[in-house]
Amino acid sequence: MEIPRQTEALSGRSQSPGSLTEQLRPGLRGELVLPTDAAYDRARRVWNGAIDKRPAAIVFCATPDDVVHAVTYARSQGCLVAVRSGGHNVAGLSVCDDGMVIDLSRMKKISVDPQRRIARAEAGLNLGEFDAATQAHGLATTMGVNGDTGIAGLTLGGGFGKLGRKHGLSCDNLIAAEIVTADGRMLRTSASDHPELFWALHGGGGNFGIVTAFEYRLHPLGPALLVGSVLHAYNQAREAMRFYDEFSRGAPDELSVDAALVTLPSGERAFSIAACYAGPLEAGEAVIAPLMKFGSPVESRLQAIPYIQIQSAGDSLFPRGRRYYWKAQFLREIADGAIDALLDCYAKAPNRSSLLVFQQVGGAIARVPASDSPYANRDAALDCFPIAIWDDPVDDEANIGWARDLWNAVRPFSTGGVYANNLGDEGDERVRDAYGGNYARLAAVKKQYDPTNFFRLNQNIRPG
Ligand SMILES: Cc1cc2nc3c(=O)[nH]c(=O)nc-3n(C[C@H](O)[C@H](O)[C@H](O)COP(=O)(O)OP(=O)(O)OC[C@H]3O[C@@H](n4cnc5c(N)ncnc54)[C@H](O)[C@@H]3O)c2cc1C
Repeated sequence: MEIPRQTEALSGRSQSPGSLTEQLRPGLRGELVLPTDAAYDRARRVWNGAIDKRPAAIVFCATPDDVVHAVTYARSQGCLVAVRSGGHNVAGLSVCDDGMVIDLSRMKKISVDPQRRIARAEAGLNLGEFDAATQAHGLATTMGVNGDTGIAGLTLGGGFGKLGRKHGLSCDNLIAAEIVTADGRMLRTSASDHPELFWALHGGGGNFGIVTAFEYRLHPLGPALLVGSVLHAYNQAREAMRFYDEFSRGAPDELSVDAALVTLPSGERAFSIAACYAGPLEAGEAVIAPLMKFGSPVESRLQAIPYIQIQSAGDSLFPRGRRYYWKAQFLREIADGAIDALLDCYAKAPNRSSLLVFQQVGGAIARVPASDSPYANRDAALDCFPIAIWDDPVDDEANIGWARDLWNAVRPFSTGGVYANNLGDEGDERVRDAYGGNYARLAAVKKQYDPTNFFRLNQNIRPG
């Protein structure tokens, strides 16, 4: 279905760049920020402080018409376009040098229909804002674990978090999406409207256009969920990792168990496990009990915590502006050889902020056939990735090198697959690893909706 426009698109082909910029500004309800503006330096920044790009223009859109306006202008100029919502992409693909950033972060309308259990959410919302609005009605859908992440990038690449094993990926809960395509059309996509395009939006990322709003299926939840967390000393980490592997693989769908190698403020290393039960509190206690009983943790806690608080619990670990690098891969299990490699490499972490993370997937995510959506790696059990975090550019090499070494050491034990949203700038082969057998179909949809690869600053699928 084509959504009627309120304003006419610009044609502008015969005009000078300067006059076109002026033509763009009055047509916008939102804000245009140029390099000469005082707001520019802040406006060009993204979550990862290691990204330092200088676009020629940043368009803060206020409405879908603004998005059409910006796309049409950029096309008329042959201008490189980056699309930004939450700004969390680790590789900094949502900002560019010289081109135009089309930013949706100010488009934050959300309406929740508690009877039909549906939310319509504009693309500029972050997870914290989305969770707060849906939990106000005792509802939720799968989102990630950091409140500052954008719903847009997260959903378009898949989206997993504490509810994924019970309710599937964020994109599995999509009912419809409104999108501006490369030719400036506004389309509503759903299972019946532009179904191939709608299929491609289930993990295919920002390749097909700019999504302005998502419609999600919601589920009753909370307000409080049971969370069990334990911390094991590093000299117990080998056994604790074996336990984690077995415990997480036997978990019911309601249980999501994430873990990490961490360094405590004292400088000691440790293995932390956190289990969250998305069901009745009493039932959760029995399910989490084996975790609480295992070994001799140096710390352990079992608590009922409001879902919104659980969702923001890790936010302070990932503030905007620090330097970040990570490299991810999926595992089906944590083999003994992988444990040795991980413990050995983590011990060489160049600073105390750096982490090795396991994020559990599986459950309902794994029961969706791999070709039902672009997100192909449905059979994975864990997403495993080192996260290097530092502040001084002189430490770039040591931190990036450490994360790559760790990734290489675990590589023999991985499925070979990767989550598109956790890819850095890793080349075409790795994009194919994310999409597997779905790549050719994605390339065909790309050819239909974006034949010139106008949207190419992403995990790029070439029109085919
Ligand atoms: C601290 C942290 C925690 C994370 N935790 C999780 C997690 O628990 N689960 C999980 O699944 N992922 C997680 N991620 C990964 C996250 O899903 C991706 O980084 C995602 O791209 C972020 O979306 P964004 O809108 O914030 O990003 P942006 O940087 O704004 O966008 C990323 C890319 O998405 C595309 N895009 C963005 N907005 C639009 C739009 N409106 N229309 C079309 N394309 C668009 C563009 O190609 C853009 O380059 C995490 C990331 C971080 C940094």
